Amino acid sequence: MDSLERKLLRKVYVKETKKSSLKLIKWLQSTGLLRHKIKCKKCKKKMKMVASQSRDHYIWECRRKKCGRLRRSVRTESVFSQSHCSLFTWMKYIHRFAQGLHLRQVDMLQDGIAKSTATLSMMSKKLRRVCLKSLKKHQKKKKQRVGGVNVLVHIDESKFCHKRKYARGRFGNTWKRKRSWVFGILEIKSARRRPILRLVKKRNKETLVPIIKKHVKRQSLVVSDEWKAYASLSQEGYKHVRVNHSKNYVDPQTGLHTQNLERAWQTYKMQIWRMRGNRSEKTLKQHLCFIEWTHWLARTYKHGVLGRLLKDIRNNYHRSV
Ligand SMILES: [Zn+2]
Repeated sequence: MDSLERKLLRKVYVKETKKSSLKLIKWLQSTGLLRHKIKCKKCKKKMKMVASQSRDHYIWECRRKKCGRLRRSVRTESVFSQSHCSLFTWMKYIHRFAQGLHLRQVDMLQDGIAKSTATLSMMSKKLRRVCLKSLKKHQKKKKQRVGGVNVLVHIDESKFCHKRKYARGRFGNTWKRKRSWVFGILEIKSARRRPILRLVKKRNKETLVPIIKKHVKRQSLVVSDEWKAYASLSQEGYKHVRVNHSKNYVDPQTGLHTQNLERAWQTYKMQIWRMRGNRSEKTLKQHLCFIEWTHWLARTYKHGVLGRLLKDIRNNYHRSV
């Protein structure tokens, strides 16, 4: 457990009192999750944080006469605004979210982290949106390229079930169960795994090869199954090895095996099943993005997944007041 996690746990797993609230608020202000100064909307001068009867036990107040004790929540312009659960609940949830493993809602209700599934869904939705935004920004800036000379890159397609919306019939939208392909690229570089997961309607050459060319550097050692869409990869400048999945895992000539990818696929699939939601095309896409966020940005971050999450929340809600 790193110090950040320890600090968080020490502040939230305590009895909620005025004193512990102030400690938590101060800490959240120091990490940038809550604003540490707020300007009065009327006089544009600094407000003061004072004790109050409000849910958070503290509130921002302007005590200048002409402003008439104008008040604003300590949650102003933060991830916690417009929600009713306590900051303690929020931070417990954020901790669990960063851990990733114990996200089952049943467990969290049992552990008393939140009182309703609606609260949990709202929190998870907010946090997931933060991660998504952060990944999109990274993709735009860094282009998300994997591989390189002799770097091992596995590619594969897998079927995922999801719902798709159809705008037809007299009564507008209907939902249908649909199966599409998730095309996966997985870079394996010593202990690091970096996946790129894309929802595709077809798994033909016209769809898959452009995705490979966009994300995988030439000269990479690309391992795939014998699917015909991959036939042209060696002409595209890749060292392409095809492995027969059904016969044996290890290719007798090259010694390469597909176990890594199959194991990774299973993990990703389980992660997706575990996540709640109606698993529409949109939610499936979001889950794939979230998995990418975990591997590309969070696990490699110097202060770990929790640190990355706090950083992304901070950046997402940082606006000048
Ligand atoms: Zn004022």
